Amino acid sequence: MSLIVQKYGGSSVADADRIKNVARRVIRTKEQGNQVVVVASAMGETTDELIQLARQVADEPDDRELDLLLSTGEVVSCTLLTMALRSMGQKAISLTGAQAGIRTDSTYSKARITGISPKRISRELEKGQIVIVTGFQGVNDELDITTLGRGGSDTTAVALAISLAADRCEIYTDVDGVYITDPRLVPQARKLEEIGYEEMLEMASVGTRVLHPRAVELGWVYGMPIMVASSFNDSPGTLIRGGVPMEIRNKVSGIAHDFNMAKVTVIGVPDKPGIASAIFEALARANISVDTIVQNASINRITDLTFTVAKSDLNKAMEVIKPVAESIGARNCTSDATLGKVSIVGAGMQTAPGYAARMFKTLAENEINIELIATSEIRITCIIDGEKIPQAVQALHRAFEGYI
Ligand code: ASP
Ligand code: MG
Repeated sequence: MSLIVQKYGGSSVADADRIKNVARRVIRTKEQGNQVVVVASAMGETTDELIQLARQVADEPDDRELDLLLSTGEVVSCTLLTMALRSMGQKAISLTGAQAGIRTDSTYSKARITGISPKRISRELEKGQIVIVTGFQGVNDELDITTLGRGGSDTTAVALAISLAADRCEIYTDVDGVYITDPRLVPQARKLEEIGYEEMLEMASVGTRVLHPRAVELGWVYGMPIMVASSFNDSPGTLIRGGVPMEIRNKVSGIAHDFNMAKVTVIGVPDKPGIASAIFEALARANISVDTIVQNASINRITDLTFTVAKSDLNKAMEVIKPVAESIGARNCTSDATLGKVSIVGAGMQTAPGYAARMFKTLAENEINIELIATSEIRITCIIDGEKIPQAVQALHRAFEGYI
């Protein structure tokens, strides 16, 4: 008998009919002779609605209260799913994160799991129950309810699978799996049968949001295979795992894109120690995450510093940067919010030369100017005009077809 942890996202449990659909899928898994633990997210947009409600009664809702409030979204979906299962004649029980033994630190709204003692879950499984656990939440040492950050139910599922030594973790969502590139831009894009953890993380970091990166990271560290598939059909999904065979590793696994980019340039910066730290510390204090950073070669000990941020963070970043730029003696500060990025990802790039050249040539042939380039060992990212992203993605898909 295998033990399987299944997670169903918010859109999969958005209304009563969908909850019943999920119940039938869970029963099918159980009837194939498996033990099943289910993690569910809150129904549809519930979490967003609860946040809006909180903001209507308080400008800055208290963190602890907000976490307790948000945790109720998952309580609703999970109890309803359990009732549906029971009315279909199954033995099923719902447990909150706390009841399931998920302990966290006290960082409300983005708590980290410190440990899981799944004794209660195991006991219920032994009794033949299907166990439904509320996603996205745990309990701290004070027994206060904490939440794991937006999209945290994926993390709950993978963490539970690891602590229960499950055979696999299945994440069901509203897409069929991980595609080589966005099928909305390239309709003939192929779905990947499998992808390595590292490549999946790189894809997430550059705009492919199928699975929460924290969940992928956890799966990677503990070697837990994760299947991503749709809850609306039976097509096989994408398996995220380690040790992907050599032949698959040698190819481009993905072409990712992100429209949500802005560039900030601090012009005429004196080239001396401490300057980058002054700028990026100020941004970090304001909780703005910076993506690509480029410092030009200096001329007469004066240089330019360029970095990218999410478009939604641009105004705040400029507010933070302007006084810092002045205090370090920079000449000016400019921004550009019309950018986007395209990336190619593939573990094979580590050992095979030529990927970067082919990427740059493809963009050049399409008269697309590259503003900035950033790389990791298995990824090449180009920042380009946001409007040219669809064209770039399509051209790169054609150029790397044989490599995919
Ligand atoms: N309901 C939470 C959210 O919307 C957690 C999740 O969906 O994974 O962020
Ligand atoms: Mg959600």
